[in-house]
Parts: sequence; C-alpha cells; structure tokens
Amino acid sequence: MIPGGLDDTIAAISTPLGIGGIGIVRMSGPQAEEIARRLFHRKQGTGPFRSHHFYLGTIVDPDGQRLLDEVLLVLMHKPKTYTREDVVEIQCHSGTFVLQEILQALLRCGARLADPGEFTKRAFLNGRIDLTQAEAVIDVIQSKTQRSLELAHRQRSGRLTAELRGLKDGLLDLLALLEANIDFPDEEIPELSPDALSQRIQSLRDSIDALILTYREGKIYREGVATVIVGKPNVGKSSLLNSLLDEERAIVTPIPGTTRDTLEEAVTIRGISLHLMDTAGLRKARDAIEEEGVRRTQENLSRAELAIWVVDGSERLDEEDLLILEQVRLKKTMVAINKNDLIQRISPADLKRRIPEAPVVSISALRGSGIEGFKETIRDFILDGKVESSGDVLLTNVRHKQSLEFCREALAQALITQAKGLSAEFLVLDIRRALQAVGEILGETTSEEVLDRIFSRFCIGK
Ligand code: GDP
Repeated sequence: MIPGGLDDTIAAISTPLGIGGIGIVRMSGPQAEEIARRLFHRKQGTGPFRSHHFYLGTIVDPDGQRLLDEVLLVLMHKPKTYTREDVVEIQCHSGTFVLQEILQALLRCGARLADPGEFTKRAFLNGRIDLTQAEAVIDVIQSKTQRSLELAHRQRSGRLTAELRGLKDGLLDLLALLEANIDFPDEEIPELSPDALSQRIQSLRDSIDALILTYREGKIYREGVATVIVGKPNVGKSSLLNSLLDEERAIVTPIPGTTRDTLEEAVTIRGISLHLMDTAGLRKARDAIEEEGVRRTQENLSRAELAIWVVDGSERLDEEDLLILEQVRLKKTMVAINKNDLIQRISPADLKRRIPEAPVVSISALRGSGIEGFKETIRDFILDGKVESSGDVLLTNVRHKQSLEFCREALAQALITQAKGLSAEFLVLDIRRALQAVGEILGETTSEEVLDRIFSRFCIGK
C-alpha cells in the first residue's frame, strides 16, 4: 500500500524544528539497526544493543569523519514498538541544523524520508492499531481541552474499536445463520423465525442509533464551537471577551485566522472550546469604519455556529440594534444584556419576545457579575440543555458517523427486505453492506484514497 512496500526503512525528525532542549530523529524498518550501527559510536561497551535500552554515544557522518552530535540512542526491536517494526530513536541537541544533519546521514545510509503520519500508518498497516485508533493519535495531538483529550485517549485505547467489534460480531452471527440456512436448508440448523430475525436486526440498528446520537456532543468536544460576538460599538463586546479570556488565561490559545487581520482565540468554557472569531477586529472595532464593521459581522456570522449578541442594557434598543437582531435571528444565538450595574432600560422579557429561541442573560462585563451564570448558560445552550452523556464512547469523527449511517441504512433495508418476505439471499446482501460499512470505520475495507486523506493530516515524524 505504501510505495516501495513496508520493506524499506523510513526516517524523520519527530520533534518540532527549532531551538530546544532535545530533538528526536526516528527511524523505522528492517534496516534501522544496521543504519544506526554504521553511524553511532558507543561511549562504552561493545556487542549487540539490548532492545529498549538507552546508549550514550556520538553520531558521525557516514564517512566517519565528522562528529555530528553527542546523542542518546535507543533501539527497539519489533514487535513491541510503535510501528511493530524495528525502531531507532536518536535524542540529540535540538537545533535545526544538527537535526537535519543527522537525518541526512540516515538517508545517505539507505533510509527514506517518511511521509506525514507514516509511522502511525505503519502501526495501522502492521495491525497494531485499527484506523480509529490511528485517527485518535492525531486527536490527542490536537486536543485543546481536558474533555477532548480524554475522549481521544479513550478512542486511542480501543473503546470505540470494542464497540464496533461487538457490532460486527452481531452482524457476522446473523450472516452465518442466514447463510447456513441458504446453503444447508435440509440440515438440522436452527431456523430463525421471522420475528426473531427482525428483532435481532432491530437491536443492532438500535445500538447504531445510540452511537450516532452521541456524535453531536462528541463533535462539540473534539472540534469546539465557532463563535462570534456581535453587537453595535460600545455595548461592551471587548469587555465581555476580556472577562471570558481573563479567567481562562492559562488555556487561551491563539489560532491563526484565515486572513491576516483576523485573529481567533479559543477559550474553554465548562470543558467546551469556543473558537472566538475575529477578536482582532473586535478589539479595534471602534476605529473601523461602519460599513467595514457590518461586513465583518455578516461574514463572521455566516461562518459561526454560535452568536453571542451583546446589547447595552443602560440604553434603549435602537435601530442599529434591531438591524443586528435581524441578522442574528436565524442563528443559534445567545443574548447578553450588558452593563447591568447601570440603570436598565432594556428588559430581558422584551428581548426574549423579539428572539424567542435565544437564552437572555443579564451581565456586567466590567464588574464581572453574571459571568459564571453566563458560562453555564453557554454550555447548556450548546449541549441543548442535555446533561453530559455518561456513556463510555462518544462518536467524535464525521467519517465514523457517515459510515454508521450507511450501516443503519443497510439494516433498515434488511428490515424492509424481510417484511416483504424476499428470500434470504437478499437479506444476506443487506447484512454484507452493513458489515462493509463497519469495516470501513475500522480500516479493514477502507480505500487507499481515504487512508491517504487521513494520514496526510498528520505531521511528518508521527
Ligand atoms: P465594544 O465596542 O462593544 O467592544 O465595547 P467595549 O468593551 O470597548 O466597552 C465600551 C465601554 O463600555 C467601555 O468604556 C467599557 O468600560 C464600558 N463597559 C463595558 N462593559 C460595561 C459594564 O458592564 N458596565 C459599565 N458600566 N460599563 C461597561
């Protein structure tokens, strides 16, 4: 599946390029040990390397002339390694040049530069992990909240795998029974009554439904929610942003925006990552000319999943507010009546009437009052007021969800086939389609194109 097959040896720098304490160059494949032996000079002792032990020594270039670095080297013999192949990791000083020099030396000795995610792809192709576990590796790396990290680790350790294998076993049992009845109709094979059969199909379909239902929440935790704060100038949008960011300073991560003058920041609210859009624009909104502000608001609104509309509670709603109301009306919107430390000229009930779907909360961004309740409301609103699911497995990946939908569709078809009284051969086809869909999630029947797409999201060296 990989150009050149799995019999070549791959190498890459596995730590971020730049100046740092330690950098790691990694190699995997049948020649890993031999290449390491050519370049590495142990400080003490000779003889074979013990697997999974560190050795101190130097790396010299392949001609044996030039010292490249003093390093720690660990050789891990297969199969107990990340890729299930022989793996060598070289810990050196982390400088861009020295890392490149060591990598080049490995390549000159016969290793090939690894593609993005190729180490993890090998772990998958060699059967150490399935595709959902490989995908979870990138989720671990990308997670920004405690909850998303927890979910990623669960998937990585095989909880979703176990669930899917259970489903697959159920389908296989059913298939075996159906096929036995087709192949050996006269033998003593227990025949499934039509009722028992449809019950089994329905119960499989129910467990798929339950899993699909977890996706909404799973996606929220994994990906966060694109959020925009809107409102006319001076109502307190920046102040609200600051009070949200303030308390969470430790976990604020700037996200490079799509255009140069937009900046997105992520703030974690009750375990959910809100990606606040155009906060740079927000901060200088007062200088921006009005049309520009309107254009930005519209653009942001169209990309956002959640809008937080801020109004100044000490002033009556004016035309400008109502213009914004028209824009946010069609969105999933929350309303913050700000400046509740001043005499109020807007009533929550009045706003509620104007935009009935939206929760309305009264706050003072300046004083920090009502902010805790506001966060609570954000969380509840995003999760549709549902309590967090206590289930072990949350579906977080749209690819998994789509395949499960195919699977469910195939089982729905099976029920129709059965209700029509069509012969078992047709049922077998439906069940096979359902199995195919589960196999796609696990990576058993996944196309090369989909695999490439998945692993290309990884960085080189992972
Ligand atoms: P923006 O233009 O919507 O981003 O508004 P700012 O956050 O810059 O706030 C505009 C003005 O309102 C500033 O002078 C803030 O100090 C003030 N302000 C913001 N929030 C409150 C509040 O809760 N109470 C009071 N009294 N003033 C506030």
